[in-house]
Amino acid sequence: MHQKPHILIIEDEPTITELLRTGLNYEGYRVSIAADGKTGFASASQGAFDLIILDVMLPDMDGFTLCQKLRAQGNETPIIMLTAKQEIEDRVMGLDSGADDYVTKPFSFAELLARIRAQLRRSGRRAEPTHLEAAGIVLDTETHEVTKDGTPIHLTPTEFSLLELFMRHPRRVFTRETLLNRIWGYDYIGDTSVVDVHISHLREKLGDRPPRLIRTIYGVGYAFHPKE
Ligand code: CA
Repeated sequence: MHQKPHILIIEDEPTITELLRTGLNYEGYRVSIAADGKTGFASASQGAFDLIILDVMLPDMDGFTLCQKLRAQGNETPIIMLTAKQEIEDRVMGLDSGADDYVTKPFSFAELLARIRAQLRRSGRRAEPTHLEAAGIVLDTETHEVTKDGTPIHLTPTEFSLLELFMRHPRRVFTRETLLNRIWGYDYIGDTSVVDVHISHLREKLGDRPPRLIRTIYGVGYAFHPKE
């Protein structure tokens, strides 16, 4: 997701919409606001949003109905419902109506932000293909199976993650630091040579000989070149 995620807020209370607009802009999101259900439904129907924050209590239409109408249209944009009522039935109804999550008012901005991030991560994953093919290699992220020219290849989870990252971004050069962060995590403490060791094992298992698929870009890092 290279563009800033675009969030639609459907809520009639100006104090809340302004608080959300300011806070979300600060966090790097683009924000659009609809102050009633009819306008909100029209905007949401165009489907150009990454996420919708939907208040249950709207002047002309309740949020549950609006959510159901969007889902009936086949709109799968993640929806977080805001509800003033704390009754459990509301929560159940919020999820039954097709909402992905709910937050009860008064809510903390930090909590809402965490839920927004979680929803965007989930929807981002859904949008990614699970079956990758290049240079005779087939990688399936759902079954965790890899084949090379039809022969199964057994990879460790780290090798699998490395290969998946390369196959998702052919020709892109990854530095050792980037690979450490993406595969081992930001809290990994250790030498970047661990990357070289795993790349070397991965190449061996793939029978990757020069000119390699996984190329060493001297002084920089590695890149996956499926052609030539
Ligand atoms: Ca409201």
